[in-house]
Amino acid sequence: MKTHISCKGLYKIFKVSDLEVVALRGVDLDVQYGELLSIVGASGSGKSTLINILAGYESPSAGDVTVGNFDLLGINQKEAVEYRKTEVGFVWQQTGKNLVPYLDIFSNIELPMMASKLTKNNRKTKVESLIKFLNLEKIAKRLPENISGGEQQIAAIAVALANEPPLLLADEPTGELDDETGVMVLEKMRYVNKNYKTTVVIVTHDPKIENHVDRSIGMRDGKVVNEVISDNSNKKNEYIVVDSFGGVQIPQEILKKSKISSKANLKVADNKISLEKIIRKNK
Ligand code: ADP
Ligand code: MG
Repeated sequence: MKTHISCKGLYKIFKVSDLEVVALRGVDLDVQYGELLSIVGASGSGKSTLINILAGYESPSAGDVTVGNFDLLGINQKEAVEYRKTEVGFVWQQTGKNLVPYLDIFSNIELPMMASKLTKNNRKTKVESLIKFLNLEKIAKRLPENISGGEQQIAAIAVALANEPPLLLADEPTGELDDETGVMVLEKMRYVNKNYKTTVVIVTHDPKIENHVDRSIGMRDGKVVNEVISDNSNKKNEYIVVDSFGGVQIPQEILKKSKISSKANLKVADNKISLEKIIRKNK
């Protein structure tokens, strides 16, 4: 397996007038080519910031981030445009943001190809094959306003794949859909991953996504805190993440149960580290 996305100690700080908001505080993440990964976390945990950096829409403040042969920390404006054109496809949450309203679905899919050197005939063949691949035949001649929200998101996947990027990113792609339609869209993304071998990263606040991906990472307060991996028999194994500085985040409910606060005794044995509540003996 070959590494497609690598983030090490990734930071993003937004400056809003005199205030600084730290949206990412040391994200470590590796994604292999052909993986189907989700990023799950509550609102404000930094998911969109991370995926926007991976898409080349935001520049990181510090740390390392590479996607394929691109180093996104040192990338200039011109390279970022090239990167977005060839290396990534992006699906937004807002169904309306993904499609041009006055073009039919066929022309929407063809639009990103206009910047390439393809002839009109070649474009037509490619659009037709994407339409067939994603079963969009019935809606190809319709305007976005005349198809359902779920169909709009599947059409958006086709638009994102127009230039055959190795990476497909989606930020809450099912956020505006009902559960059933959402599952249909997620399954289409899985289908793309399995058949086109595209690396797919889906951001969502809904932990149910774990049923539709191979691996899911959890974010909290701008860090990756846990990871859920489905094995061959679809059994889910949940792990806590230990970052490159040795940091771990202990879930609040476990901390409460242990009655540990601010300090603890750290004990080490073979393959095992434990934290124990400090018991003070009366003299
Ligand atoms: P999520 O997608 O998980 O809801 P975001 O990445 O959108 O989280 O936001 C993470 C944090 O960064 C939040 O505190 C948010 O308010 C802040 N943030 C995001 N984008 C900006 C921005 N452009 N300017 C200032 N603060 C921002
Ligand atoms: Mg978001």
